[in-house]
Amino acid sequence: MEFFNHCCHSRHYFFEIRKCGIETCNICKPIRSDPETFFKLHNLPDPIPIINQEHYKQFEDVYGTETTEDFRPSLQKKGVDNKVTNDMGFSPNGQYAANTGTVIQCCECSKWRVLYCKRKLNTNENSLLNRFLDSIEYTCGDSFNHLIADGGNSNDVESDDVSDLFKHVKVNNKLNCNNSMEVSYYSCNLYEDLCFLCGINEREETESQEECYYYCSECSVGIKDKKKRKKKSFSGGSQSKRGRL
Ligand SMILES: [Zn+2]
Ligand SMILES: [Zn+2]
Ligand SMILES: [Zn+2]
Repeated sequence: MEFFNHCCHSRHYFFEIRKCGIETCNICKPIRSDPETFFKLHNLPDPIPIINQEHYKQFEDVYGTETTEDFRPSLQKKGVDNKVTNDMGFSPNGQYAANTGTVIQCCECSKWRVLYCKRKLNTNENSLLNRFLDSIEYTCGDSFNHLIADGGNSNDVESDDVSDLFKHVKVNNKLNCNNSMEVSYYSCNLYEDLCFLCGINEREETESQEECYYYCSECSVGIKDKKKRKKKSFSGGSQSKRGRL
């Protein structure tokens, strides 16, 4: 514990060990790197938002300052009450989910979140979307709206295309990691039958599909009212799942 308190820095996203640099310290050993370089190194900063904006500060702006974990995305209580509306501009449904045929996995809670579009994506849009989603880490509550450029074209063709894409493709950013799976994940009929509550455990082929959503054995404990399924099917595109697998 002495060592831990002395020179370790434990965070949800990372764990650092950094010697104190004092030659005579009896907890950690003397440094071996060049002292000039060593004393320029700081602990990794936590994400700190820009006041009144949805974005976080640049790494350079917070590096070397004292930060706390209070602004970690998954600690933000977005959308806990129903008054918070999503930024999608339309209501999510199974058909819109089928139009993208794409979900992305939250890197914190591992639930799959559904991507929606009011019209069916073409092949190019679909591959651009999947390429883009492969390049990011998604956490519940994130929206893609900050990628939409406000007018003027940039020099980067790909980022213009991404900007155009996310004018149409939306994720329900009202959801946080404590929310269950989305009904449209199931009603688009494209994906495996995962537990409605945890979104992790899969229904075995042998288990019959009941009139309620599937709840794994762990999540079934203490659940009185399982959510009932709505019977409706959609013709979707090809499915693709993006995330940490
Ligand atoms: Zn020390
Ligand atoms: Zn999550
Ligand atoms: Zn479960």
